Amino acid sequence: PPLVELENVVKTYGQKEKTNAVDGVSLAVEAGEIYGIIGHSGAGKSTLVRLINGLERVTSGRVVVDGHEISSLKEREIRPLRLGIGMIFQQFNLFRSRTIAGNVAYPLRVAGWSKADRDKRVAELLDFVGLLHRAYDYPEQLSGGQKQRVGIARALATSPKLLLADESTSALDPETTQEVLRLLKKVNAELGVTIIVITHEMDVVRSIADRVAVLADGKIVEEGKVFDIFSDP
Ligand code: ADP
Ligand code: ADP
Repeated sequence: PPLVELENVVKTYGQKEKTNAVDGVSLAVEAGEIYGIIGHSGAGKSTLVRLINGLERVTSGRVVVDGHEISSLKEREIRPLRLGIGMIFQQFNLFRSRTIAGNVAYPLRVAGWSKADRDKRVAELLDFVGLLHRAYDYPEQLSGGQKQRVGIARALATSPKLLLADESTSALDPETTQEVLRLLKKVNAELGVTIIVITHEMDVVRSIADRVAVLADGKIVEEGKVFDIFSDP
């Protein structure tokens, strides 16, 4: 079965003036894939992300992640499942007052890991993203690309099967973008993590995704292999 499956998902906001932010989306992401979701601002990308990580509930349809039907669970049932989903963000969302190591250790602390286990895991993760030598620095001492590498290390701390990258390179210049995308490819290839890349940037999808869904006005208007969709006619 797919790792992530959406079946005819609708999400409507508002009482009187109803907006279908997501309007009948069906898609399936296979384990081990890098799947792109591309669309302009307002297309419904962030809403889709929040439906997949269980921060929002569908108005109708089904969202299934790793065999769990997120759309029918209660918040307290979803919370442990969210540990199985890593998230990275456009603005990195690091804690300014914590060191790099402290940021990466944070989800492990929440998950109740012992200090010895945290330290071992944090060193392993920082080594993987090439920032072990910056463990005791603070986020403001790092470049944007380095901050996102910390974001990736933190997202991977609890060994999620799925990584959601929400506009994760949109604050970076093209060169740094490619560097972060190379790291995401390594995460996919070496750790076997399934990645969903949500972006408005065509080049990002082109350089990293296996398959892509093009979202417009809450609907998928095209879906398929990146090569087929973005090759010139
Ligand atoms: P994107 O991430 O592609 O920019 P969004 O998912 O943020 O798109 O938004 C899709 C549509 O849903 C937009 O019309 C937006 O205004 C609307 N929308 C998103 N979130 C909310 C909300 N919490 N309340 C009301 N409308 C929302
Ligand atoms: P806190 O954990 O109280 O927020 P910090 O922000 O300094 O404090 O977090 C540091 C955390 O990361 C601690 O768990 C610490 O033991 C661990 N740590 C710090 N540096 C390293 C390192 N080089 N390798 C592995 N773990 C480290």
